[in-house]
Amino acid sequence: MRLDYVTIFPDFFAPLALSLPGKAAAKGLVAFGVHDLRSFTHDRHRTVDDTPYGGGAGMVMKPEPWGEAFDALLPADTHADADAGRPTVVFTTPSGEPFDQALAAELATREHLVFACGRYEGIDQRVIDHARERAEVREISLGDYVLNGGEVAALAITEAVVRLLPGFMGNAESLVEESHSAETGGLLEYPVYTKPPTWRGREVPEVLRSGDHGKVARWRHEQAVRRTAERRPDLLAPSVLDDGTPIVRAV
Ligand code: SAM
Repeated sequence: MRLDYVTIFPDFFAPLALSLPGKAAAKGLVAFGVHDLRSFTHDRHRTVDDTPYGGGAGMVMKPEPWGEAFDALLPADTHADADAGRPTVVFTTPSGEPFDQALAAELATREHLVFACGRYEGIDQRVIDHARERAEVREISLGDYVLNGGEVAALAITEAVVRLLPGFMGNAESLVEESHSAETGGLLEYPVYTKPPTWRGREVPEVLRSGDHGKVARWRHEQAVRRTAERRPDLLAPSVLDDGTPIVRAV
């Protein structure tokens, strides 16, 4: 997978060289490219913003540098061949679709992601409309709050996506029992413990030391359901067991 980032703050992306993403890049599993939007300007001040049409506070990102960035990063003619191998341009924006694990899994199937990191009051709408003619476009929000820029959102999305790539995690099993994973029905993860068995008077639950895998699995599932019900009841939907007993399960 190739991931490109267009930003006015390239230094934000230094962490891509660290930890697991850095190792994945070294192994050739992913390739990262960071591009300074200002390198696509032609005036002395390397201007990327201007005042908004219609008035109002703040500045809006100008279309021209974005157009040139896309000319450099996207194939010349992708709209002729709608879905096959089209790059995906991700515009990070608080008015986008909410980012979640299912969307991370979807993006992990793409070959080429281009992140357009907004700043100021956002990017001229024509840039997004233009990108749709050349690529799949996803407008994605990290959550219902406003950040100063799209860089942190692009990094968060990147981390959630690349850890799903085959070969990225040393032990792929660790992806299966995680919060929000499809395999656990989208439940939050149960509490986890390690050694020592007693710490500052607090004991590891006996069942986890019992060696009884069936009991451990049942305890973990109960804990996951309880935690999800307490913290994120929106993730649960009512259902019934085959014998009619009401249960809760993740949607
Ligand atoms: N005026 C915009 C609005 O009200 O929707 C907010 C602009 S924000 C100050 C600047 C940039 O930060 C946005 O263009 C976007 O790229 C990024 N950003 C802010 N909040 C975000 C969020 N929740 N998710 C993703 N990107 C976000």
